[in-house]
Amino acid sequence: PLILTEFLDRAVHLYGEKPAIIDEDWTLTYRELNARVNQLSRGLESLGVKKGDKVAYLAPNSTEMLEGFYGVFQLGAVMTPLNTRLKPADYRFILEHSESKVLLVDHTLLPLVQEVVQDLPSIEKVIVHGDPSKEGYESWLSQFSPDTFDRENVEETDIASLLYTSGTTGDPKGVLLSHRSNYLHALSSMHHLRVSDQDTLLHVLPMFHVNGWGSPFYYTANGATQVMLRKTDPELILNKVEKYNVSVLHMAPTVLNMVIGAYEEKQPSIDQDVRVVIAGSAPPPAFVRKVEEDLKWKFVQVYGMTEISPLITTSELRSMDVDRPAEERYRLKAKAGYSMIGSQVKVVDELGEEVPSDGKSIGEIVTKSNNVMEGYYKNVEATNEAIRDGWLHTGDMAVVDDGGNIEIVDRKKDVIISGGENISSIEVEAALYEHPSILEAAVVAVPDEKWGEVPHAVVVVKEGETLSEEEVILFCREKLAHFKAPKSVTFIEELPKTASGKIQKVVIRKKFWKDHNRMVN
Ligand code: ATP
Ligand code: MG
Repeated sequence: PLILTEFLDRAVHLYGEKPAIIDEDWTLTYRELNARVNQLSRGLESLGVKKGDKVAYLAPNSTEMLEGFYGVFQLGAVMTPLNTRLKPADYRFILEHSESKVLLVDHTLLPLVQEVVQDLPSIEKVIVHGDPSKEGYESWLSQFSPDTFDRENVEETDIASLLYTSGTTGDPKGVLLSHRSNYLHALSSMHHLRVSDQDTLLHVLPMFHVNGWGSPFYYTANGATQVMLRKTDPELILNKVEKYNVSVLHMAPTVLNMVIGAYEEKQPSIDQDVRVVIAGSAPPPAFVRKVEEDLKWKFVQVYGMTEISPLITTSELRSMDVDRPAEERYRLKAKAGYSMIGSQVKVVDELGEEVPSDGKSIGEIVTKSNNVMEGYYKNVEATNEAIRDGWLHTGDMAVVDDGGNIEIVDRKKDVIISGGENISSIEVEAALYEHPSILEAAVVAVPDEKWGEVPHAVVVVKEGETLSEEEVILFCREKLAHFKAPKSVTFIEELPKTASGKIQKVVIRKKFWKDHNRMVN
């Protein structure tokens, strides 16, 4: 059966004495990890956790989190990781909605949920871990046998995870993914990202988020070493890359942007062969150039979403071709790329017909594969809205060229409709990022009497630099068609972001639309 613990079995068998996890000053081999996983499964069993029960985790990327994955799976129970940057009311919503039975929480995050869990009827036990004194959780684990755990009743169609979406566009939705979906997704990703036992991965993307969530499976299966990053700090990232000879990192463009900043300041020597996998939002080509030329990391773009385990396209295929001129490579890598093995991906119009592959006709990305979720938990309506005739509708608009290369134009909700023209907020942002004084930028639709909507830019200026509204607008007018250039600009210190580093345009948009209705919000 395609169950996720097989990946750990394989690692123990082939790479038992290799370091599996490096977490602060703590190193565990695959054999040691497996022993702890068995202890954890028995510990959870002793608390009454059974097949189908939800086990919630609130933890940074850590040993406890990764062993939690496999420890929960062995029972046929459902791993429910929680975003570490939510508010108490959100935790209440998710813990209640998921009916989590046990909550494992890192001691640094306990204050976030301490009050909430007191009156939640479903929660039977809260276990605190990560205490530097290694008391509590560690002594609890040590009571249980590390011997092989019987997992005969786990089947590939069982639900492995209940993951809540980022909440970039509204309330988070609970996505149910089976062992089989996660497993097949892992096989496809390990192929496309060329994962091997020579790899050392730095876990930058949070593991509670689907992108960080999927990667441990394929790095485990190949006996790669997984370095934990408990805090998203750009200098720490550079230090760990150097110290542990990291060969691969997955992260959001906003975080990579900070790493580039830290690199430019310190210019540390990084001479190993690093590749960086980018997910989450479309990076502009200028950005790809920076990564490849300044940082000298190889850039790979992927596209996906929680509902599909998550990855379905990658720029890796032809764009990695070293014979191509650099500029062409960067342009290719700025696109979401080609469909990955195991996923059918189409770009369709409103009638469900594929749009012409001409690089300019816009449609919605739809996909069909074994990666697709079983559905949204306790939300049949949203499930039926998302999956129609077996095709998952992503809500992402794209164009496709004659070679099958997909370029994300925008989220349906973020497209600016101005005087009947569609403006891609991503395209306007790409122009803004070419400005040497701009650190970060987001473009949203604001209401306009004449045009319906017009683009508005929200800009974060690099430290020590100044910029006026007029300068920004004129700069964009040089790069873009007139109607696409922002009509107004706000300067702010920091953009609102989700925990995985995505810019929340819905939050930015809100204050402009207070007294108006917007069809898609
Ligand atoms: P919510 O569904 O709760 O609003 P979310 O859609 O941000 O949140 P995720 O599943 O984490 O939740 O993110 C998936 C989305 O991220 C995609 O639908 C797409 O809009 C965006 N995305 C992912 N990869 C890329 C990419 N390579 N380029 C552009 N956008 C991307
Ligand atoms: Mg979404």
